[in-house]
Amino acid sequence: MASEPRFKRVLLKLSGEALMGSLEYGTDPAQIERITQQVREVHDRGVEVAVVVGAGNIYRGLEGAAEGMDRATADYMGMLATVLNALTLQDALEKVEVDTRVLSAMAVTEVAEPYIRRRAIRHLEKGRTVIFAAGTGNPFFTTDTAAALRALEIHAEAILMAKSGVEGVYDADPSLEPDATFLPEISHREAIERGLRVMDSTALSLCMENDLPIYVFNMADERNIDRIVRGERVGTLVSSKPAGEPAQRVGTR
Ligand code: UDP
Repeated sequence: MASEPRFKRVLLKLSGEALMGSLEYGTDPAQIERITQQVREVHDRGVEVAVVVGAGNIYRGLEGAAEGMDRATADYMGMLATVLNALTLQDALEKVEVDTRVLSAMAVTEVAEPYIRRRAIRHLEKGRTVIFAAGTGNPFFTTDTAAALRALEIHAEAILMAKSGVEGVYDADPSLEPDATFLPEISHREAIERGLRVMDSTALSLCMENDLPIYVFNMADERNIDRIVRGERVGTLVSSKPAGEPAQRVGTR
């Protein structure tokens, strides 16, 4: 008999890169399948899963702005790109029989429901996986901030932050500095002060102010999401608690 999951409701942040697998651009069907199997596994354990998806595999507003485009226009394009990823994921999840709803922060009513907080919660309570598309709906933000915001809005107990090619958080960028030290546990404040790449600082501040733990883990290991949900220590835990204390949100639901 499987042990009780540690969390009842989690928010999984998938960057565009996480969907790309080994490709240079776009979505890798094999990678999507690996992700959906993992989501299905935790869903089948009775954990409510919400997903925020990025779009770095398709488009980033900053890159458009760097090419001379108006930043806000480029950001709206980035948000639309997240809708494409959300639909890809929804299709794949439904193929493995996980009922899924896409809720978008921008109106695309032909393909997704509008984001309504209480509706999102209701879907989760009914056992549906919810994918939040179009980030926060505002330019100049990121899908990391959308992940923090939505996690707080739906009272998720933790953010599961999937990374590609790294085990979690390091004291320096391991792709540039091979001697970078892996950090199994760190506080939000320390991550902000040391400029560590957990999520962007707006998102991280939101998590810090609201005492929301973040589990940063390597997407390449297919057991990781399930392990975290079962309470195993995997990757880096970013929390407001000093090292050693369990980081579980209390009294939020
Ligand atoms: N974006 C935005 N507002 C948001 C979320 C996203 O303007 O609330 C735009 C922004 O241009 C960003 C792009 O959407 O570059 C894709 O999101 P992000 O870079 O966060 O994707 P990820 O890095 O997770 O793949």
